[in-house]
Amino acid sequence: MSENTLEFRRKTHAVKVAWGGRVVTIGGMNPIVVQSMTNTSTADVESSVAQVLALARAGSELVRLTVNTPDAARGVARIREALDRSGCDVPLVGDFHYNGHKLLADHPECAAALSKYRINPGNVGKGEKGMENFASMIECAKKYGAAVRIGVNWGSLDQALLARMMDENNALSDPLPPDAVLRAALVESAVQSADMAVKLGLPADRIVLSAKVSEVQGLISVYRMLARRGSYALHLGLTEAGIGSKGIVASTAALAVLLQEGIGDTIRVSLTPSPGAPRTEEVVVAQEILQCMGLRSFTPMVTSCPGCGRTTSDLFQRLAAGTQDYLRSRMPEWRVSCPGVENMTVAVMGCVVNGPGESRQADIGISLPGSGESPVAPVYVRGEKVCALKGDDMQARFHAMIEEFVQTTYGASSRGQSDN
Ligand code: SF4
Repeated sequence: MSENTLEFRRKTHAVKVAWGGRVVTIGGMNPIVVQSMTNTSTADVESSVAQVLALARAGSELVRLTVNTPDAARGVARIREALDRSGCDVPLVGDFHYNGHKLLADHPECAAALSKYRINPGNVGKGEKGMENFASMIECAKKYGAAVRIGVNWGSLDQALLARMMDENNALSDPLPPDAVLRAALVESAVQSADMAVKLGLPADRIVLSAKVSEVQGLISVYRMLARRGSYALHLGLTEAGIGSKGIVASTAALAVLLQEGIGDTIRVSLTPSPGAPRTEEVVVAQEILQCMGLRSFTPMVTSCPGCGRTTSDLFQRLAAGTQDYLRSRMPEWRVSCPGVENMTVAVMGCVVNGPGESRQADIGISLPGSGESPVAPVYVRGEKVCALKGDDMQARFHAMIEEFVQTTYGASSRGQSDN
């Protein structure tokens, strides 16, 4: 599967976010970047390092941390050092609200350890003081070579700007509804702040914009407006998306429409984690949105049928779920040693009706026996039936076949053969 298969992709400035030798480029027709955010206290260095490592290992290409106190600012540099010692070069983004100007000025080691700063223009301060604080953060970004996200959120929109736009709207003979003015104010706040950052000397190719709301139609409307207002790279995300399937569906609905229109250079899925669920869930969902839309490939995905009255036990469901888990668990190693494996297709099917046909279409597929069928499961590799599995160790043997297929098709030996 190729990258960026959209017929139209909005051309934006390419923003490089770098750490060490690693450069992640947001925008400029580059692959859409997946990012995430920790929910540990940044002052708790040990927990934060563990979570950043887990997010990076899951495939998050940037990881954002809350920087809200002097202890958190001190924690950032220590987290960066620990990640570097672990060989993890994922660029870190600092999320600042209210006191970012002070934390960055007072903690140069924090300013230097971050590759990107998120600035919310709605809470840098009011009036002249707010302008000074904003300018101070932009100066830091210039000094340390950091990129900046101007991140507006409707929960913390610049109230002075909103009040002025509401007054102007009310003076019109045919005023817009208040929610339309609110959306326009979000866009205005983001664009005006970005233009101000450029005036202060930060190049446009160091700036990413976001303007997040928590309902789907509002987000689509806001980002369509943002996309018409210049060439800044855009960070997409439905804020406060919610928990469980609601959060996943709402994020997917909003992001899919915009991505299909060529809008969006980096995405974050803001899920409320289910109790006990790993933080990495938001990375998996973001990757699956892009992969299901054919925009990027991250992990081989299992094609499986829903099952029906022909499936006689839960073996089929366990094999489908176990195989997807197996593929995901192997990706950190395969990503390095078996390039291209992310495009592999795998099928796990429930019976003879569609099983052999779907399995033949996949790189490797298995068709389980339905009710009344002979209790064997034929396995197909690139369209050819290679064996039939049965017995209690069917799952382990199928996974061993997948591993062998991956090594021979994408591993070092396969590249050696093709080089000769
Ligand atoms: S492939 Fe077989 S088990 Fe699966 S949904 Fe179709 S008929 Fe049912």
